[in-house]
Amino acid sequence: MSTIATVRADYHRVPLPVALADSTHGEMTCFELVTVRISDSDGAEGVGYTYTVGAGGGAIQHMIARDLGPRLIGQAAAKTEALWQQMWWILHYGGRGGQATSAISAVDIALWDLKARKANQPLYVSLGGFDPRVPCYAGGIDLHLPQDELLSQTDRNIDKGFRAIKMKVGRPRLSEDVQRVTAMRAHLGDDFPLMIDANMRWSVDQAIAAARALRECNVAWLEEPTIPDDVHGHARIVRESGVPIAAGENLHSLHEFAQYMRAEAVTYPEPDVTNCGGVTVFMKIAHLAESFNLPVTSHGAHDVTVHLLAAVSNRSYLEAHGFGLDRYLAYPLDIVDGNAIAAERPGHGVEFDWDALAALRV
Ligand SMILES: [Mg+2]
Repeated sequence: MSTIATVRADYHRVPLPVALADSTHGEMTCFELVTVRISDSDGAEGVGYTYTVGAGGGAIQHMIARDLGPRLIGQAAAKTEALWQQMWWILHYGGRGGQATSAISAVDIALWDLKARKANQPLYVSLGGFDPRVPCYAGGIDLHLPQDELLSQTDRNIDKGFRAIKMKVGRPRLSEDVQRVTAMRAHLGDDFPLMIDANMRWSVDQAIAAARALRECNVAWLEEPTIPDDVHGHARIVRESGVPIAAGENLHSLHEFAQYMRAEAVTYPEPDVTNCGGVTVFMKIAHLAESFNLPVTSHGAHDVTVHLLAAVSNRSYLEAHGFGLDRYLAYPLDIVDGNAIAAERPGHGVEFDWDALAALRV
C-alpha cells in the first residue's frame, strides 16, 4: 500500500468577478482558497481545497503545513478513516469546528481524490455510485441586486440549464423580501423550484413571521433562518412556520448534524464538504440523514460535492455556488436540463489552473 510522501498547502486570495452580498457577511469582494496537494510513494497525486468568505485562510494553511501534513507523511494514504481520526485529535483542543475542521476537510478531500484516482474510478463510484445526474440549483448571492437585475440574473441562470433557483432574503424590511420573492415566484411560474436563504439574519420569532409571510410563494425551503447555535430555535421554526428548513453550512461536525436531526430542527441537512470535515464526514452526514428519512443537500464546492450527492440515494439538490471558482478550473460544472453531472474522470476530477492561481498566492 502506498504511503503519503508530500503534503503541500497553498493559500490564495481570489477576487470575485463582481462584488456579492448577503444578509450577514455584507459586501464580499474576494474569497480565500486554500489548496492541498498530496502525493504518495507511487508518485500519484490527490487534490483538495477549502475556502473562506474572506478571513481565516492563512490560519488554515498554517495548520495543514505545520500541524497536519508533517504527521501524515509515511502513513498509508488509503486509510482515510484512520487519517481523519488522527487529524481530528491533533486539532481537537480548540478545534472541533471552525478553521481546524476546514483544514481537516481540505486534506481529507485530497486523500479521497488520491484513493479514487488510484482505483481509476470517479469519486462518486468509489463512494457508492448511485446516479451521476444530480438535481442542481443556482445559488444566487444577490441580496444587493435591484429587483430587475435579480430577475435578469435568474434568466441567465435558466439559459445556462438551471431548473431551480435560490435567492437571498433578509432585507432590512420584511415587506421588501415579500415583494422580491413574490416577484421571483411570478417570474418563474408556479411549479419552478425556488429556495430562499436568510443567512442567519433573523431571530426565531422573526423567522417564523417571515416564513409565514412568504408561505404563499411556495418556497422549496428557507435556509439558515437564524444562528446555527440555536438548535431548539430551528426546531420551533420547523414546527411553527410550515416551511421546510435547510441548514448546515455553518455546522462543522457529524455530531452537530446529529443534534439537528434528532431535534427535528432541519428538513434539508446542508453540509459543506470543505468545512464539515471533508468527504469522510459529508458521507456520514448523508447516511445519517437517510436513517432519519431526510434528503441531503449541499453548500459550496459544487465541483467536488456533485460526486458526494451522486453517491447517495437520498440526495436532494446540489448547490451551484456563486463564488466563480470555475475561472481557475479545467472543467466547469456540467449542467444538463437542471442536473449537474458527476464526471467519469478518475477521482473528483477537479483540475486547478495552477499557473493562474500562482498569481493569487499569498
Ligand atoms: Mg446559504
